[in-house]
Amino acid sequence: MVSVEETNGRDAAIEEVAARLRVRAERGRRFAELTSLRVGGAIDWVLSPENEGQAAALVYELEQRGVAWRPLGSGSNVLADDGAHHYAIVSLKELKADPVFAGDRVSVSAGYSLPRLCIDSARRGLAGIEGLNGIPGTVGGALWMNAGAYGQEIGTVVETIRVARGGRVVEIPGADVSWNYRHTSFQDGELLLGATLLLREGDPEEISARMEAAKSERMATQPHGTRSAGCFFKNAPASPVGTGKMIDDLGMKGTRRGGAVISPKHANFIVTEGDDARAADALALAEEIRERVKHEHGIELEYEVELWSSK
Ligand SMILES: Cc1cc2nc3c(=O)[nH]c(=O)nc-3n(C[C@H](O)[C@H](O)[C@H](O)COP(=O)(O)OP(=O)(O)OC[C@H]3O[C@@H](n4cnc5c(N)ncnc54)[C@H](O)[C@@H]3O)c2cc1C
Repeated sequence: MVSVEETNGRDAAIEEVAARLRVRAERGRRFAELTSLRVGGAIDWVLSPENEGQAAALVYELEQRGVAWRPLGSGSNVLADDGAHHYAIVSLKELKADPVFAGDRVSVSAGYSLPRLCIDSARRGLAGIEGLNGIPGTVGGALWMNAGAYGQEIGTVVETIRVARGGRVVEIPGADVSWNYRHTSFQDGELLLGATLLLREGDPEEISARMEAAKSERMATQPHGTRSAGCFFKNAPASPVGTGKMIDDLGMKGTRRGGAVISPKHANFIVTEGDDARAADALALAEEIRERVKHEHGIELEYEVELWSSK
């Protein structure tokens, strides 16, 4: 249990650091506003740096003062529980300066929209990320978990990546990172500030056509305009079929628990509905899926969505 004195001391430290570094600091925000599932509890502080240097200095100063923090991009891969989260969110959404293109390279900050980067690159005749166009997050969120779709993963095109170390922006080779299936070797406490991607020159029309084809397939097979976090579970190496098909075969599409529903369009998507939906509803439904799959197939599904606990 954190005492009132400790909380007051921490709050004063955050206010001082944010004012000195000129970082916007907000109170009273909720995960329900900041994540695509639109559920989740209160956050003590949301801090929004606007450039990479400011972000690096911010997390260094927070660490020096023992203030716990977590990075958040668009919140499209996070299910935060309904409790009160007593840490600072470092939101990267304002780190969105225009990307800088030079030949077949592009340097981009962590808060830039991944779909926008895909479109910008395609227009310049640069291939390598056109399949990622429908992933509704930031570049930083994609780098963190090696986002991928339609045979492409962001990790394969990363030449260098900029991270916050000791209050500064440090550039490391992409080859130093392990890029695995929806997982990387980055450790908690690492803040990703941006990256330089090495793309391939190609025909703009062909690249755009591939981008459109991927988008059409996504629209046809996934629920759009809904409150989701994409695929809830990873595909299981032990299963010959994808997780969505496995859940569908169990007849679970459309199952509802409170304000959470297994999408009738794609069984690996849990969507939330209504003002009363809670993170606990989505979590209960997800655990029910895991139990059924374990019981019927002996497979332990691994979450693709990140579960953030307030405890
Ligand atoms: C409709 C829909 C479809 C989707 N389809 C796909 C898909 O096809 N393929 C796929 O891979 N994903 C998919 N996703 C999931 C999600 O969009 C991706 O994981 C995306 O890359 C997350 O980016 P974000 O900015 O929203 O990250 P967030 O959800 O904000 O964060 C995710 C994780 O990354 C960390 N993080 C974010 N930014 C940083 C940073 N700058 N430094 C350090 N850590 C950071 C966070 O702390 C958190 O741990 C989909 C989601 C939705 C809603």
